[in-house]
Amino acid sequence: MTEKRISRVVIAGGGTAGWIAAAALVKQLGPLLDITLVESDEIGTVGVGESTIPTSRRFHQLLGIDEPTFMRETQASFKLGIAFENWTHEGDRYFHSFGQIGRQASWMADFHHFWLEAQKQGFGGSLAEYSLELQAAEAERVVAGPDAPVQYAYHLDATLYARFLRHLSEPAGVRRVEGKISQVEQNADTGFLTALILESGERVEGDLFLDCTGFRALLIEQTLETGFEDWGRWISTDSAFAVQTEAVASPVPYTRAIAHQAGWRWKIPLQHRVGNGLVFCSDFLSPDAARQQLLDAVEGKPLIEPRLIRYRTGQRRKAWNKNCLALGLASGFIEPLESTSIHLIKTAVTRLIQAFPFAGIGEAQVARFNAQARHEMEGVRDFIILHYHLNSRDEPFWERCRTMAIPDSLAARIALFQEGAQAYQASDDLFRVDSWVQVLLGQGVKPRGHHQLARLMPAGELDRVLGELRAGISKAVRGMPLHAETLARYCRASS
Ligand code: FAD
Repeated sequence: MTEKRISRVVIAGGGTAGWIAAAALVKQLGPLLDITLVESDEIGTVGVGESTIPTSRRFHQLLGIDEPTFMRETQASFKLGIAFENWTHEGDRYFHSFGQIGRQASWMADFHHFWLEAQKQGFGGSLAEYSLELQAAEAERVVAGPDAPVQYAYHLDATLYARFLRHLSEPAGVRRVEGKISQVEQNADTGFLTALILESGERVEGDLFLDCTGFRALLIEQTLETGFEDWGRWISTDSAFAVQTEAVASPVPYTRAIAHQAGWRWKIPLQHRVGNGLVFCSDFLSPDAARQQLLDAVEGKPLIEPRLIRYRTGQRRKAWNKNCLALGLASGFIEPLESTSIHLIKTAVTRLIQAFPFAGIGEAQVARFNAQARHEMEGVRDFIILHYHLNSRDEPFWERCRTMAIPDSLAARIALFQEGAQAYQASDDLFRVDSWVQVLLGQGVKPRGHHQLARLMPAGELDRVLGELRAGISKAVRGMPLHAETLARYCRASS
């Protein structure tokens, strides 16, 4: 344990991670801390990261963020899930929606077992018909606000989001310093960080440093040499081209993830434009071909030159090392398929605030933080690999994904589902049972059995209950306003 009391927090980097950390720390602990954020306009931010998951809503509530204002300022649209197109084979499509599928009955078996029994008996329709969010997404309808019956997240403009958070943070007391960090000072005995030295010669001293410098990982890696655990043996993609285009239609309330011969393409519709990107594996597609493929696929005029982003999938061996805590891309990156990075920044910041080390940094606390970060990242990693691994596409990239070794933890989950359709969400797991079920079934797993509880229902009862659920969902969706109407009424951005 360091005896040094912690009151001066220095945030290196002003991308999404840096400004999320600044906004949350100043909101929750402002009067107890002296917070400085250093960022370099010249270096800029990664400029992507525009699709989120519903946990963002709760985080924003804790920060006292007014939803319509936030959505207006970031040109945000609503997101009810992700449509996966061509993942098992060309022409295939399934949905990973937010919210609950079916209804949790008073039986001790998950809903999908009842649906599987119905399938076996020849009725019940598709699983998609039991998700309110999925049906609303397909009908392009959304209800907004705290009492909304649907679970939703946002598509947002990453640059505007950082700006929005900055405008909350500075008036609340965060000091922003513009400039390039050229050197990081350490205590010669302990190796703890003591100050950032900027190119201008300015010295920014601190007790706790948050490394939010993106892939550069200036503090946690370049200075502390913490080490990186590479997951390239499990996830093959290593590059992405991103381009923004003019909107040619009303935004749909879901992200599209469209598989191609060597990766996948995203389409994220905002109010003022569309974010597009092509994720690929450079062993199977050259950057020139990937760029052209993206430009050929987008609808609407490109607003910028496509930008190439190269990445390594994996995690820092320790997210927290000495008095430096890495957030965002500096802490690691799992490719963006399930839009989880911004969520991981928020949970890390929340955990820091919940156990803020005012009296000094303790080893037990650091160990606990790192164990939680690892658990979270590995859970997301397994879920992402699942999409790639279970495919029936015939291109060499997909063949490699299908035959690659997978983590034991994922192999066990797949086997459990194959045997008896069992899926689970352990405590601290991000993905719900319904998430696993949708993707496992979507990627073509056919469970050999399922729970038999449904057979205890009187004859005709299962059919009747399922029919009522489907009818209830379709009625509820018909009563919802169109996504475009909700955007116009609730949070229309000015331009
Ligand atoms: P950056 O945005 O790179 O910010 C780094 C900051 O550090 C900048 O302000 C920079 O100026 C500063 N900096 C660096 N070096 C110095 C220096 N020497 N001196 C001063 N300042 C410095 N996440 C999601 O949740 N959803 C998505 O849909 C999604 N899609 C993604 C798609 C791709 C292709 C990639 C690569 C990532 C995606 N992510 C997504 C992840 C998401 O973009 C990041 O988690 C998020 O933007 C946070 O980035 P960051 O703040 O860590 O880094």
